[in-house]
Amino acid sequence: MTIKTPRTLAPSHPPPFRAVPWSDSTQVCPCCDGEAHVILGGIFAQNGIRAVYLVSWTRDRPQHVPHIDLILGPWGLDSQASARVLVTLAYRRKPQGGRFVQIDSEKRLANSPLYCGRALAAREAIPSPFSEELPLFIDAIWESGPFINEALPSHTYNSGRSQG
Ligand SMILES: [Zn+2]
Repeated sequence: MTIKTPRTLAPSHPPPFRAVPWSDSTQVCPCCDGEAHVILGGIFAQNGIRAVYLVSWTRDRPQHVPHIDLILGPWGLDSQASARVLVTLAYRRKPQGGRFVQIDSEKRLANSPLYCGRALAAREAIPSPFSEELPLFIDAIWESGPFINEALPSHTYNSGRSQG
C-alpha cells in the first residue's frame, strides 16, 4: 500500500493516536560516515499501546531514505511476539510531496522473533484493523518530534504539520 505524507493541518477533533518517542540512538554509518539515527517509540491509543515503531534516517545523506518499521499487534505484559507482524515503509521523494511506500520487511533488523512472528512483504496485505490505522500512525509519528524535519527536509514534501 501507499501512504501519502500528511499535507494539510485540519484536525477538527483530537487525533486517535499519539506517538511517543522513547529513544534516539546515533551511530556512524559505515558506508558514508554519516550520522545515522534510529528513533524508537510507541503508538498509543486511549486504551493502550497499538504498535512499536522505529524511524531510521541519516543526517544530510539523501542517498539513505528514511524508513519506518512498525511492529503491529499486542504489546501488553502477557502478549506474544508471535502474534505481531512487522511492516516497513520507505520514503519516496516526489516533487509534489513525498510518501511512504510499503517495502519487504524480511531483512530489516526489527525482523526478530523477539519482536514479531512475521515480516510482511511489500505486496502483502496489512492485517485489519492496522491497514486502516496505519496512515494515522504515520500522522502521529509525523507530529511527534522535530527530528522529522531533519529526516525529511521541508522542501521534499508538503506538510503543514511539520512545524507543529
Ligand atoms: Zn551511509
